[in-house]
Amino acid sequence: MRPGGRVPVDGLVTSGQSFIDQAAITGESMPVEKVPGARVYAGTVNQSGVLEIQTETVGRETAFGKIIEAVENAERSRAPVQRTADRLAGYLVYFALACALLTLIFTHNARSTISVVIVAGACGIAAGTPLAILGAIGRAARYGAIVKGGLYMETLSKVDTVVLDKTGTLTLGNPEIVSIDPVQGVERERLLLVAASAERYSEHPLARAILKTANDASLSLVDPEGFSYTPGKGISCRVEAEETVVGTRAFLLECGVEVSAPTTDDDSSTEISVAQGRIHLGSLRIADVLRPEAVEAVRALKDMSIRTVLLTGDAVSIGLAVGHQLEVDEVEAELLPQQKLDRVRTLRGAGKTVVMVGDGINDAPALMEANVGIAMGSGTEVARESANVLLLGNDLLKVVEVIKIARWCNRIIMFNFAGTLVVDAVGVGLAAFGFLNPVLAALIHVSSELIFILNSARLLSRSSKESRLATLGDKMTLPPAERAAV
Ligand code: ADP
Ligand code: MG
Repeated sequence: MRPGGRVPVDGLVTSGQSFIDQAAITGESMPVEKVPGARVYAGTVNQSGVLEIQTETVGRETAFGKIIEAVENAERSRAPVQRTADRLAGYLVYFALACALLTLIFTHNARSTISVVIVAGACGIAAGTPLAILGAIGRAARYGAIVKGGLYMETLSKVDTVVLDKTGTLTLGNPEIVSIDPVQGVERERLLLVAASAERYSEHPLARAILKTANDASLSLVDPEGFSYTPGKGISCRVEAEETVVGTRAFLLECGVEVSAPTTDDDSSTEISVAQGRIHLGSLRIADVLRPEAVEAVRALKDMSIRTVLLTGDAVSIGLAVGHQLEVDEVEAELLPQQKLDRVRTLRGAGKTVVMVGDGINDAPALMEANVGIAMGSGTEVARESANVLLLGNDLLKVVEVIKIARWCNRIIMFNFAGTLVVDAVGVGLAAFGFLNPVLAALIHVSSELIFILNSARLLSRSSKESRLATLGDKMTLPPAERAAV
């Protein structure tokens, strides 16, 4: 990859060093330094150095390709407001023709009749609405949130409840083991080895923490057999031919293991219990850090009169601690995936318009059930497929921003609706009574429609505030490697 060229694929840098302008994908206004191991995106521009890139995805599969696909799909999956707009525009044409006919019958004045026909316009609605929606989708995409259809953009403007998952969504999903507590007679290394071997193929953030510690201690892991993952509970498998269970206390009890009482009542770390051959080997405590922007994001949602609900599969004490720290309106913990889905369904049943933000396999059903599901960029493939909005990166403020864009888009569309109706009604009235000549009528028609279209087009413009926010947002997310997968 030479300087000045456009990166053709998504991939990892294998050698070289350079700065890349990736504003087209992530909205960052400053070029980002890329060194081996960093991720580069198709459509971004290499500024200075030479890079060797290992291709990961090409064409439609790249982040850029997905944005294009999202915009194309958005054009196909039309928002209901667009159908209303088309119908309204149709009525306006009939309205103008009927008024013209009446004018002709009552005044016998051809000039007035022609003026009536000319003055009435519907483009502010017919063209202004799709333009506003596409503009909003484009704007959100530039900001790092891919909205998979106009319908979701419209629904987002009406959202009154945001449901948040904890692990990986509100927390960095980069947890670390803070203590290893084997029961008496078991070695720490043994406990860690069994846990890490069982977690070897797990995608869960907690599993990554265990594997990292095991790696650091250079333990040689064994391959688990008969691996089965119960989302929200844990893993059961065979390690060294022995039945092994790694997960919540409740899960171990369910599997017939007698678990000894917890050693601490610390509510800032998650406990994972390990058992082999139905014998409790001990527990690992894993702590995760809240995303730096999480407090601000929850506060911003509250300022927008949106109710926030935290639903987690983790223990009640941790759920409450996190909920308290973020000041969310409601916390529910120890939920299985099905229960998360049920909570979302109940909220919808109560007439709420619900956004669910999640990252895990355990969140996928709730993401589908919510009016709009939003997946974190680092989320599992299932979550990202189930969601209607995909964040590029993990910045929670993007959730706030995309709702703001949706509300703005809705205001613009409503303004255009009302404006067109007023201009048409007043214009037709004036024309019918002979106050307008055809030239003036044409002027009113064209200039009013121009105003409405320009009003919609405001969504397309790039404000200085937006690029500043985008840069700020990116600083707050993780280093480029974390902003991985799209
Ligand atoms: P959240 O809803 O906060 O994202 P999850 O539903 O993914 O949390 O997990 C809930 C709990 O289930 C975790 O706190 C952990 O105790 C247990 N658990 C889930 N996945 C695993 C795993 N791979 N290994 C061990 N325990 C797990
Ligand atoms: Mg999660």
